[in-house]
Amino acid sequence: MTSETKPPEEVTAKFRDYEFREGVQQALDDAGYETPTPIQSAAIPPLMKGGDLIGVAETGTGKTLTYLLPILHRMVFDGSKSPQAVVICPTRELAQQVGKEAVKFGRHLGLRTIVAYGGTSTAEQKRLLTEGCELLVATPGRLLDFVNSAWLSLRRVKYLVLDEADRMLDMGFINDMDAILRKMPMSRQSMLFSATFSDEVRELAERYMLHPEIVRMSAQTKVAGGVDHALYPVADSQKTDLLLEILRRRRATKTLVFIATKKGTSELALRLRRDAHEVVSLSSLLSQANRERALKAFRDGEFDVLVATDVAARGLDITDIDLVINYDLPMQSSDYVHRIGRTGRAERHGHAASLVTPRDERKVKEIERLIGERIARIELEGFRYRKADPVRDGDRRGRGGGRGRGDGGRSSGGRGGSGRRRSGGSGRSGGSGRSGGSGGRSGESSAAKENRGEGGAPRPRRRRRRRPGSGSGGGSGSGSGSGGSGSAD
Ligand code: AMP
Repeated sequence: MTSETKPPEEVTAKFRDYEFREGVQQALDDAGYETPTPIQSAAIPPLMKGGDLIGVAETGTGKTLTYLLPILHRMVFDGSKSPQAVVICPTRELAQQVGKEAVKFGRHLGLRTIVAYGGTSTAEQKRLLTEGCELLVATPGRLLDFVNSAWLSLRRVKYLVLDEADRMLDMGFINDMDAILRKMPMSRQSMLFSATFSDEVRELAERYMLHPEIVRMSAQTKVAGGVDHALYPVADSQKTDLLLEILRRRRATKTLVFIATKKGTSELALRLRRDAHEVVSLSSLLSQANRERALKAFRDGEFDVLVATDVAARGLDITDIDLVINYDLPMQSSDYVHRIGRTGRAERHGHAASLVTPRDERKVKEIERLIGERIARIELEGFRYRKADPVRDGDRRGRGGGRGRGDGGRSSGGRGGSGRRRSGGSGRSGGSGRSGGSGGRSGESSAAKENRGEGGAPRPRRRRRRRPGSGSGGGSGSGSGSGGSGSAD
């Protein structure tokens, strides 16, 4: 490991200053992106010089373009069949998003992108591989299958990206990654992106990278600017009631609810539906096609609530989520920041509410230690907390108790007790369009059906009238390929 670069406090460079090749600049113009995000301005210059780099940054900071733009700028288009650039991602969702971004920004260059992940037939992916590509985005399992079965050669790889490396290690992909990386030429440029810089990530980097520059985004433990976040203490038995109450009061256009188990996603979705919410759930209970449909429908505003597990929601890029609710706190404290970073994106304002029971006390302390601040506690006025209710944060009675934003809640907490937090942030604007599957249907009902073995396509749902101001992620661009290994829970 060598030099460590701190991201600049103020971003002064413009993309034009990097003098990207014409096709890349054109795509940036099309997207309306002029100013690099902090990770981009810190990492693009060294990447353009060809050095190895570790970027400690998570989804939402603009990390995908951080590596894609220099790769697209430097790559040679000579019609060769085997890929020059390989991006390895832990989940199919992330692979798809990277694929879409690549298609969007490689459009004017005639970039051929293949997105490969397990779980479905390999036939289409094999056909595409025989046609050739410059960029391959893949999950480790499927990539290794192709390499081992000689459908794919990695000998021409000049650019390697390990995206969400910490997640890949958490998911047990280390042996697959070792096997894949051994097949690549030493002369490549290696880029590793990770939300955390754990010992395991460091060890991986030491094995496979050459004097990498390290660019750390302080955002990893900071709650993004533009997000209010607060704890809503409640008894376990009242969690669902409180969730419904928060939804009623907040009247968010798009809400993402995190829950610990995949079984829980369907159950909670059903309950919310009974309260007249248009709900879709996302977990491995859904087939791949239905997951894509579910996501597209949520993006398009057909559903107002998405209930998901952590893994299923990893890599989601939906820029107009205005409310994130942790029905259960995440297993890993660092995922707290990651989860609530799903709202307040692209310069919007967001709110995040975590339902916490007395059992969560230790986890709450851990999270507060990690983010370096005390999180406000909110008690909803008028909500009938049971006697055994653990709303017992001493602060909430009296001290610093400003009102929660718009939900009739009383908040207390961190410094100042207003329930608002501002820190970090990536200074982005806009966001890329995203497309999913063929859309417009309920993933949740279909998940339930799949569970019962009824299968079949999801039932079309009544289209929800959008509230003013709700944009959809809409848009186009796609990688090709199908299937998925090592994906969501
Ligand atoms: P990522 O962290 O790569 O998932 O990016 C999050 C979103 O920010 C994506 O929709 C990107 O297209 C978008 N984005 C990335 N870089 C910029 C930028 N410099 N300006 C505006 N949006 C950006």
